[in-house]
Amino acid sequence: MSERRYYWDAYQTQFTAQVVERVQANGRSALILDQTYFYPTSGGQPHDTGTLANAASTQATAVIDVTVREDDGAILHWLASPISPEIRHVNGRIDWPRRFDHMQQHSGQHILSQALLRTANAATISFHLSADSVTIDLDLPQLSPQQLIAAETLANEIVWENRPITARQVTLAEAARLNLRKIPEAAPGDALRLVEIAGFDLTACGGTHVAHTGAVGLIKIVKLERMRGQARVVFCCGSRALADYRQKQETLQEMGALLTTHFAEFPNGVRGLQAELQAANRLVKQQMEQLLALEAEQLWAQGEVYGRYTLVTHTFTGKEAAQLRQLANHLTRHSGAIALLALAGEKPFLLFSRAADAPGQMNELLQMALAQIGGKGGGTAVTAQGGGAPADLAQLQTLLNQAKVVCIERIASSE
Ligand SMILES: [Zn+2]
Repeated sequence: MSERRYYWDAYQTQFTAQVVERVQANGRSALILDQTYFYPTSGGQPHDTGTLANAASTQATAVIDVTVREDDGAILHWLASPISPEIRHVNGRIDWPRRFDHMQQHSGQHILSQALLRTANAATISFHLSADSVTIDLDLPQLSPQQLIAAETLANEIVWENRPITARQVTLAEAARLNLRKIPEAAPGDALRLVEIAGFDLTACGGTHVAHTGAVGLIKIVKLERMRGQARVVFCCGSRALADYRQKQETLQEMGALLTTHFAEFPNGVRGLQAELQAANRLVKQQMEQLLALEAEQLWAQGEVYGRYTLVTHTFTGKEAAQLRQLANHLTRHSGAIALLALAGEKPFLLFSRAADAPGQMNELLQMALAQIGGKGGGTAVTAQGGGAPADLAQLQTLLNQAKVVCIERIASSE
């Protein structure tokens, strides 16, 4: 089994090891070494990346994944390209920025988990660390804003006190006598690795940690979510907290330039803008309705009169279907009105509507017209609407003229 050297020194980034086995699976190749500083994905912490090279470091390949073989706990270093079979010794190099980021987040998690336990009596059920988020799931459905602030404050005090973080191995019997925050359900063999934050937190953990709490830099809770009925705390530490602060600062500066106020005034500023926008929208809507009413009266005045009935046909461009509906509503308030309206364009729209006292089957008339442009629609004898394939003004005018002829015939037969 590979010796896990990262357990006892998380700061070592270069090492030499002997190749003890080569593994091929799913078109990928992996090496098992007698000892390694590469951390494998486990316990909520992602794997390390880096390189493995021959002894002269003339031939290096990237380590793209690191996993634990379930049967025997061997650590598999998955390679971007296979390494020459003659190579018996390799030089390993760990990608330090990625590793240190994981150390900052993981140590920060231990501190925050203990702080949540002390301030809110909230125990950590699970921890998850990925490239874009760090989360703790708690055994509580909810936390108050005051509890979050208390936990965050205590956690950062522990960071500033720069307490040592150490790891040691104990037997399961020894572990049972200690006041551990968390004991794993099943530990392989009799050995258990403990991580201790001096005078604050003691827990079973296999992860990589900073040597002193001060290296965590800052612990900031950014969000409280609910996952499957449990509270989930989203937070960030160290360089991630700085990146988060930086991004928020940039956003605030940009907002400040737009709103020309101090950031504390942003909520009021935005509420003011929302109110103005609502008032403006109301005004536009009212004026649009007035305009449509006027337009309807103009169309009515241009209508063709056949005895008691008036036929209005018109083809529009640059309008919306809803506006045609409003126009038809205005028109059909007149006794004897029949309105045949069409909207040309990519999505043509036809609306045939009549007053209750006018003759004609609007649905039948519409189906006839739509059949010619492969369209779909429906309605009643009084009003019907639908659309079809793209049609221009001239095409729709032809359709409306044909429908008009049918209407005039109906009027003649009803008189
Ligand atoms: Zn841990």
